[in-house]
Amino acid sequence: MPEFDTIIKDGMIIDGTRLPRFRGDLGIKDGRVAKTGRLKAHEGAKVIDAGGLIVAPGFIDLHTHYDAQLFWDPYCSISSWHGVTSVVIGNCGFGFAPVQPELRERAMLSMTRNEAIPLAAMKAGMPWDWVTYPEFLDSVDRHPKAMNILPFVPLSPLLVEVMGLDEAKTGRRFTAKEEQSVSRILNEAMDAGGCGWSLQHLGGMSIQPDWDGTPMPTDIMDEENILTFGRVLAERNEGFIQMTYVPDIPGAIESDAQTHIEKFYEKLAEVSDRPILYNAVAANDKFPGRHRRQIKWLESCRDRGLKVYGQSATVEGGFTFTFADWNLWEDVQAWKDRDPIARFRRQILAARAATEADLGAIEAEVDRELADAERFAETSPWPDPATVGRHVYHEA
Ligand SMILES: [Zn+2]
Repeated sequence: MPEFDTIIKDGMIIDGTRLPRFRGDLGIKDGRVAKTGRLKAHEGAKVIDAGGLIVAPGFIDLHTHYDAQLFWDPYCSISSWHGVTSVVIGNCGFGFAPVQPELRERAMLSMTRNEAIPLAAMKAGMPWDWVTYPEFLDSVDRHPKAMNILPFVPLSPLLVEVMGLDEAKTGRRFTAKEEQSVSRILNEAMDAGGCGWSLQHLGGMSIQPDWDGTPMPTDIMDEENILTFGRVLAERNEGFIQMTYVPDIPGAIESDAQTHIEKFYEKLAEVSDRPILYNAVAANDKFPGRHRRQIKWLESCRDRGLKVYGQSATVEGGFTFTFADWNLWEDVQAWKDRDPIARFRRQILAARAATEADLGAIEAEVDRELADAERFAETSPWPDPATVGRHVYHEA
């Protein structure tokens, strides 16, 4: 009687213990990994040849932003500390390719605000030896890693590459020429190893905005443009989609907004015919019925054969933070208006990125802000963290 139910042979094993990857076999018994190493084929009732493939018998972290960190931290800490052996990068439409050399600094600045990644770490740790997405993946391949990496093609940099930064921020529709360009670039990225594409569309008051507080390019992206990217995957019959989508309808009532969201996911599922990760099903203090409606709707998608899958947080993460670092009240106007620290952060970051000629103007602005901040500190309490922004859901 064979010792294992299944043996996966000759794979490159990444076991999640922080051990470097190694070639070997993996034996499964009663649904669990029972042994790794060199196993004999006759010891398994079933044998799967994994030659040339990664075998990662650990947790998969579906939603991360290790796009920069993986270059200086092969373990993608802290995911690896918890048994994660595979991470998905390029979520939310955020990422670093394609990015032209003159926009590198700006691409890093964006990530300082929407994902709170320190600029100094990115500057010191990113090799920036790429421009295109395939070159980015080549660079990822060249760097040592203890993790299996699955990369989404993030749409924000792609929009900037094709439309230019200012135009990408208008949210207008593609021209016919731009449509050709985005399709070509996405196809090249998929050919190079992209697993699909990702975007965050959270409207003008995005909770994860650009470094200057304006929405990210995908936040205000035209729906037709989103469908264009869906058609590219349909044509290829491969890849999947990670999307956080809220329509930009200020003042829309909850049920109307939810209906619009559901209809748009259904349309994208029909157009692309590819699996879509719906972000996110989450309990919400402000709208306590929302998650029940979401789950019911996801079930109805399944019944109708639409490949929309809910992604959720099953535990309350909990946060320890200072106001200097906290970045998830960005959808609260009062926070945006009354946050001198956020303004200082932007100025400090701007100063770091500035040329000599800009510094005088920044200094004068900082003086003004300091005076403002002193007045603010004397007269205004901070927002009460127990009540403000409690409905905010952060997904990585
Ligand atoms: Zn994200």
